Amino acid sequence: SDKSAPYPVGPKEMDWSKLYPAYYNAENKEMTNKVTIADIGCGYGGLLAELAPVFPKNLILGMEIRMQVTNYVEDRIIALRAQNSDSDINKDSKHYQNISVLRGNAMKFMNNFFEKGQLEKIFFMFPDPCFKKKKFKARIISNTLLSEYAHCLKEGGIIYTITDVEDLHIWMRTHLEQHPLFERLDEEWEKTDESCQIMINATEEGQKVERNKGSKWIACFRRLPNPEII
Ligand code: SAM
Repeated sequence: SDKSAPYPVGPKEMDWSKLYPAYYNAENKEMTNKVTIADIGCGYGGLLAELAPVFPKNLILGMEIRMQVTNYVEDRIIALRAQNSDSDINKDSKHYQNISVLRGNAMKFMNNFFEKGQLEKIFFMFPDPCFKKKKFKARIISNTLLSEYAHCLKEGGIIYTITDVEDLHIWMRTHLEQHPLFERLDEEWEKTDESCQIMINATEEGQKVERNKGSKWIACFRRLPNPEII
């Protein structure tokens, strides 16, 4: 449960320096970079580890509701940073200082952490399917939540979804298609987008589906500009 996780009142109150110490400028007491990539329900952190060297200039954040899983990811990141401690963040792409994890309920508190238009990419990878009808409200994608995600995502930013559950794929895809601020990207785009290709096998859940020869349903959407109010 998310009961004891601390939340900032708003994005300005959030102290990122502990999560990304290498990106904190102690002289002017400011972060040099902002979080621009979020992995919602990051599980054991496979995507974070894969994306870190590909986007060395982006800060990448995993959000995970389970405490033990979050602790595991924290340890994993500490180990990755220690193993690569001789790499220079200004020269090397493999320093792992740009990934971190936060325990929290992404369904409730996204806007407490991120300013309007802050994020470039949001990933929803193998989210919990919440099969029963009365559990649908617990699904991580809904009309209300999509408006919150749209708020945090910059124009042109991307929402990535992948699941092995066809029902859930249809649910996520349909909600995104019906939302006025998102447009679906086609299969050609999926094939050429590096993050999309990485996401297919990066996480522990994705690898499990692969071993079991399950299907993987992908849907990616671009954030459209807000309509002009006349
Ligand atoms: N994305 C990972 C992967 O592909 O391996 C994990 C997939 S797992 C099926 C779904 C994860 O989402 C779980 O670790 C769960 O604890 C987390 N989760 C569920 N609801 C959440 C919420 N509201 N906020 C943050 N994390 C959540």
